[in-house]
Amino acid sequence: MKEVMQEKWIKRPLIIGGPCSAETEEQVLETATRLAKTGKIDVLRAGIWKPRTKPGMFEGIGVKGLPWLLQAKKITGLPVTVEVATAKHVEDALQFDIDMLWIGARTTVNPFSVQAVCDALRGVDIPVLIKNPINPDLELWSGGIERLQKVGVKQVGMIHRGFSNYGNTEYRNAPMWHLPIEMKRRFPEMLLICDPSHICGNRTLLQSIAQKSIDLDFDGLMIESHIDPDNAWSDAKQQVTPERLSELLDHLVWRSENTDVQEFITALSTLREQINHIDDELLTLIGQRMKLADKIGQYKKDNNITILQTNRWNDILARAYTKGERLGLSKEFITKYFDAVHLESINHQNKIMNEE
Ligand code: PEP
Ligand code: MN
Repeated sequence: MKEVMQEKWIKRPLIIGGPCSAETEEQVLETATRLAKTGKIDVLRAGIWKPRTKPGMFEGIGVKGLPWLLQAKKITGLPVTVEVATAKHVEDALQFDIDMLWIGARTTVNPFSVQAVCDALRGVDIPVLIKNPINPDLELWSGGIERLQKVGVKQVGMIHRGFSNYGNTEYRNAPMWHLPIEMKRRFPEMLLICDPSHICGNRTLLQSIAQKSIDLDFDGLMIESHIDPDNAWSDAKQQVTPERLSELLDHLVWRSENTDVQEFITALSTLREQINHIDDELLTLIGQRMKLADKIGQYKKDNNITILQTNRWNDILARAYTKGERLGLSKEFITKYFDAVHLESINHQNKIMNEE
């Protein structure tokens, strides 16, 4: 069988592919065979129990699909992984020799459910990947990891699948890259892979999201693949055929985090020095800006004027947009930056106004 464990660690990069859901025996076996033929997949995935937003949607084939995965493993030699959300799922999956488990985004949000899954895993030696919760709450994600570690799961990995947002955006689930990056900071040794399928919700953006995650030094990918994507029983819009997945993987550029080339190292450290220097200057300037805000605060207090004057703020923003555009800074960045500066400024003034 293809080795997913290198010594005791999960292989890196780790590429997981397979259908959103197991639908029929033929579909599972054909997907598995065609994926294995690419030689680029390490683990076969298939959802057996599907957490669906609305009743009446396909909720997964259930235990009946587990022997299909066992068969797929026999034919292709690929290890298999399924999503588990309850203790019973864990028991069933273990009974059918599933090699790896993952906890889905809708489960990670609920500590009761995560704990129930963990209790069923006590003393079991199986790698478990945990997806981020659907809402951008890193404590739930790291809480899930800690629960798994507490019951003795030795191999824990993370899957970034984006975060739910209200309204239509480019993505089904916003990537919010700074959040998985923070998780990498908290758990530097832990495997972190990206699930571009659930971030994108469509086929067109898959390649760029997959590449972006690799550029951010993620350790692999989980991508949904179906023999007839348009007619998939779940997530039809985002699945790709095994051959398309193979092409996508071929086009990825894997970069290494570190290199020994001296010239590169020197150039990089010079640039980093410059960035540090600019950051220092920026902070000093912002500090000075706040001092001015303090003065204005004092002045407003003496004259009994409110802190916020909307017109003034609109003027500041309008000026910044025009200038920012010339400097190649996006409107989104300018807005976020000025919101943060403004808030700090208001806090400063508020403190002054309320001082005795
Ligand atoms: C899935 O992987 O098919 C799935 C249900 O994903 P998520 O938990 O990320 O929504
Ligand atoms: Mn899916």
